[in-house]
Formats: sequence, C-alpha cells, structure tokens
Amino acid sequence: MGDIIRQLPDNVANQIAAGEVVQRPASVVKELLENSVDAGAGHIQLLAREAGKSGIQVIDDGAGMTETDARMAFERHATSKIESAEDIFAILTKGFRGEALASIAAVAQVELKSRPKNQELGTFLRIEGGRSMRQEFCSTAAGTQIDVQHLFYNIPARRNFLKSDNVELRHMIDEFERVALAHPSIHFRMQHNGSDLFDLPASSIRQRIVGVFGKKFNEKLVPVEEETPLVKLSGYVGKPQYARKTRGEQFFFTNYRFIKNGYLHRAVCKAFEGLLPPETHPSYFLYLELDPARIDVNIHPTKTEIKFEDDKAIHTIVRTAVRHALGQHNISPTLDFDTDQQFTPHQAKGPVEAPGVHINPHFNPFDSARSSPDYQAPPSTTSPSSPHPGRESTAPVSRQSQEWESMLNKLPEIPEEKQEEILAHQEPTGRRYLQIARKYILTHHADGMLMVHQHRAHSRVLMEQLLQDYQGGKTASQQLLFPLELSFTSGEMALLRELFPTLRELGFDLEESGSQQISIQGMPYHLDKLEPRYLFEKMLEDEKDHRQLSSEDLRETVVQTMAQLAAIRSGTLLDQEEMADLVERLMACQNPSLSASGDPTMLHFKQSDLDNYF
Ligand code: ADP
Ligand code: MG
Repeated sequence: MGDIIRQLPDNVANQIAAGEVVQRPASVVKELLENSVDAGAGHIQLLAREAGKSGIQVIDDGAGMTETDARMAFERHATSKIESAEDIFAILTKGFRGEALASIAAVAQVELKSRPKNQELGTFLRIEGGRSMRQEFCSTAAGTQIDVQHLFYNIPARRNFLKSDNVELRHMIDEFERVALAHPSIHFRMQHNGSDLFDLPASSIRQRIVGVFGKKFNEKLVPVEEETPLVKLSGYVGKPQYARKTRGEQFFFTNYRFIKNGYLHRAVCKAFEGLLPPETHPSYFLYLELDPARIDVNIHPTKTEIKFEDDKAIHTIVRTAVRHALGQHNISPTLDFDTDQQFTPHQAKGPVEAPGVHINPHFNPFDSARSSPDYQAPPSTTSPSSPHPGRESTAPVSRQSQEWESMLNKLPEIPEEKQEEILAHQEPTGRRYLQIARKYILTHHADGMLMVHQHRAHSRVLMEQLLQDYQGGKTASQQLLFPLELSFTSGEMALLRELFPTLRELGFDLEESGSQQISIQGMPYHLDKLEPRYLFEKMLEDEKDHRQLSSEDLRETVVQTMAQLAAIRSGTLLDQEEMADLVERLMACQNPSLSASGDPTMLHFKQSDLDNYF
C-alpha cells in the first residue's frame, strides 16, 4: 500500500477551520465589528441584507490596510496583533488569532476596500471561497469596508442549517449590541434591509445603554462603581422593581470585551437577593477592567466564557459593589424600611408601566368598576395566582380542567333547537341568571341547568368574532381618543415590525412613531379590555422563544392571545343583562363549548343528572 497522508490545500483547511469561527451571519458580524474596533475606528457601520444571508457589510474609519496587509489579512494565522505567544497574556485587542478573515473568506464571497490615511490610493480585493479573484487599486475613504456576500454559498449543508430571517437577525442584533455596549465612545450604526435599527453616537455608558434599550431605561439604572488594586468595576444595574420575567439585559464586559461568566452572574444575583419579585431576573451592565495577564481568554476562538485567576476575590467585589449601589439608591431593605411595601408581590408582579390613560370611547357592558379589586392588577406572565386570563390554566387549574373535560365529554351536546329554548325560558322570579363566585354563570336549561365559565366563554366569543370579522374582510378598527404610545428596544422593534401586517389585518391601526416607538391609533372592535402592551410582550416572548410560525398560524396565535387578554376576567361582577348577553353570544358561536385556549366553557346538567344526585 502506498503513502496515503496528504497535506490539505489551504482553502480546504480554511473551510474546515471556518466551521469553528463562522457558524452563522452573527459570527461574521462579531468578527468584522471587532476588527474595526481593533483598528481604532471612531465610526463603524453595519449594513445587513436578509438577516445577513445575502450580505453583511462593515464600514469603518479605522487604520486601514496597505496593499500587502490587505492580502495578508486573509491568510490563516495572519495577524498584526501579536508577535509571540507571550503577547497573548497582555492582549487588549479583540482578535489575535488571525483566523477570522481567512475563515470568513473560505465560506463566502468577500470584497474588501481599504486605505490607510496616509496613502492616496486604496486596495480592492475580491475573494471567493478562499481564492483571490481580483486585486486592484481603487479610490476609497480612509479606513476599511468589507462586504461578505452569500455566506456558505459553497457549503449548502451549512446554508440550509441557518434559521429563519427573524432568528438570524436576532442573533446579529445580539452581537451588535454587545460590541456597541462595550465601546460607548465609538459611533455605531446598524441597518437591516435599508432601514435603520440603531444609530448610536459616541456617548457615555449610560447614554449607550439608553440608546440600545430605549429611553425608558434611563430611570431604571443604578450606577455601580468600585476600584480596587485588582479590578476597576463600573456600570449599572437595573432597579429591582423593573426586573422582568424574561432573562433580558445581562452584560459583563472585561477590558471592553463581552464575556459570560456564570460565577460572576451568581455574584450579582446574590446582591439582588431578597429584592427581586419572584421569577424575575436582574438586569446589569457591568464593566471590569483588570490586568489582562490575570485573565485567560484563550479558551476557544469564539467562546465568550473567560476565566479569572482571582475569581473569588472578583466575585466578592462584584457582589458587595452591587449590593452597596442598590443600598445607596434606597432600594435595598437594609437602608429603606418602606421597601417591604414596595416589593409586595402584588405591586411587583406585573411589568412596571408608566402611568397613562387608556380611553375606550366604546361602551363597555362589563364595567371594570364593579369587578374585584384584584382585577385592576396588571396581569403577570407566569404567576399562577395572577388574574392574567391567559394563565388561568396553569398547573392546579389544568388538572381541574381535565376533570371538566372528561365530564364534558360525558355530557350530550346541546341541540341547536334547544338553545333557543334555554334562552327563552323564564323562571317565575324573573332572574334567569345567577353569578357564582364572580366566575360562573348559572342558568336554566329546559331540561336542567347550565353552568358557564364567564372568562372562558367570553374568550370564545371574542375569538370567533375576530376571526369572523377578519374572514369577512371587515376588520374595522375602533379609533382611540388618544393614541397609545408604546416604546420598545430596537431589537424588539425589529421583531415587531414583522408582525405589523398581521396586526393591521386584524384591525390594529398602528404605525412606527419613532425608531423605538409604536403609536396605536385604533384597535379591533370587541377588544375593550385588551392592554396592547401585554399583547406585544406576549408576542415578543413567543418570538424570543424562536417560534417560527406560518402567517396563518401567526394570525391564529395573535387572535387567541388577544381574545384571552381581552376577555372579562373571573372576579368581574356581572348583572342580568350582561350575563344574558354573554350566554347568548356564546351559544351563537360555532364552537361554544371550548374557550380560546381550548378549555371547556360550560357544563350542562340534565335533569336526570341532577336526579341522580338525590
Ligand atoms: P485577528 O483580528 O485575530 O488579528 P483577523 O483575521 O480578524 O485576525 O484579521 C487579520 C488582520 O487583518 C488583523 O490582525 C488586522 O491587522 C487586519 N484587519 C482586519 N480587519 C481590519 C480593519 N477593519 N481595519 C484594519 N485592519 C484590519
Ligand atoms: Mg479579528
């Protein structure tokens, strides 16, 4: 047998190595942005097309490259950032392995234009699948522009592996946010398919956080400062009362690099102990500066996990500094005796809202003024005890609803001709409906009695109404007296934008009123009780779970969510007329026996069933 071992050609080796560095468009974004930061740029622009699948362009005004450097940059292990292995212990740049550009060029079509300030002509290069296709002089602005087109064009398997545009865009935004937050003194912009997602002029850390996450963040931040010989700590934590159910904004940076470190995360959580409403997560933006020799960043080319030599000491410093900061701002119970009140679960459960007035010009038969005090509390997204209608079927209730279901299955359907009869039937007292526990409606049936779950029944009525309006093409929206303004982060806006067409179809009259704001002028009819903010939050959460829905599924989910959120709640007191109206409308539904989320809406006891009990 002859010799069989061969040296792989460079472009093949690069393609294989690329697997480690370039997993998706977001990896390219990270590497290119970091290179621009390393090049000392003051202004960095990211332009992406189709979630980066067709193009990712980064333009900077940094140091630029000479003709030879430009060519060298795409060689594997070609870097200007270290000379010897020891240098990596003093590394302050993002890159140093010299692998990123070679890897990217191996799996895409790349065009580069670059010019150092002191040279008149720049260099243009085109590289496809690691092969140089063109090189010439060009005139270009000082700095570097790299355009990465058709990622994985030569590796269809990898390309097919990419997720939906929404998901890939979310990943790109995550990377962009990390780099932008790490370097507030650099002006960053991001565009997607030609529209601006972020424009973040050079600023302070605080302004940068607000720029990324929205104006409302400003009031939520508490500064953290601490300087010890080992580490300089600065940044912000979110006030506990603004903590969210979704694990949101948690950022550590060491030496201006985004990192993940579970041990430090726990240090922050420890500092928040006793201050957070249950099941919520603190937000934090913490910047650590320390001697690079005391960090091990060299674990993996793209991993963000790092190890500290003195992790115990750093843990303590972070925990005490955060605790101290919370105390200073009168939000730690050790310093403020009023906080107990402030953090009662009732207050803290829901998302905190700026006070605002929501006027419904439409008469509402289920007037909330007569509902239980509980009713007004903002719905929480996960607490089982909450009045949130969508959550009524959490653990204990769903067991119950299984029982309901099996009972319901045993009971005969109400024949249509009987429905009329039920409703026409008058009892001698004149009271046809009895409300029980502000939750159930009991009424006569010619042949027994009917018990209706008011919230579920209403959700069914609303859902069918909405779908019917939609199908009949008459999703008239009802104008609000005062438009409602909701703010979101740019990242959330990017996701919400994709939902606009569906929401408009369903009767929402909405538009973007700023880069991070939605103005709602009108809502679908029948939805007096709907708090749009909760609808949007719910939809965002679904998006963040990376659920990919067809437009039809999406419409259905939105309708279902709207119906659940808008339906009268358990705890609402109803009068005869309201109960009559609800039961009548329920009976007119195509599928009256199930709620919007598929739970039973009513129980029907025949007289013979009743007789059995006696
Ligand atoms: P690394 O960043 O690890 O050095 P890269 O493959 O990312 O490796 O880049 C290789 C080299 O190309 C860098 O060391 C740098 O000298 C040069 N380079 C890359 N991007 C830029 C840029 N935007 N401006 C100037 N030089 C750059
Ligand atoms: Mg690099």
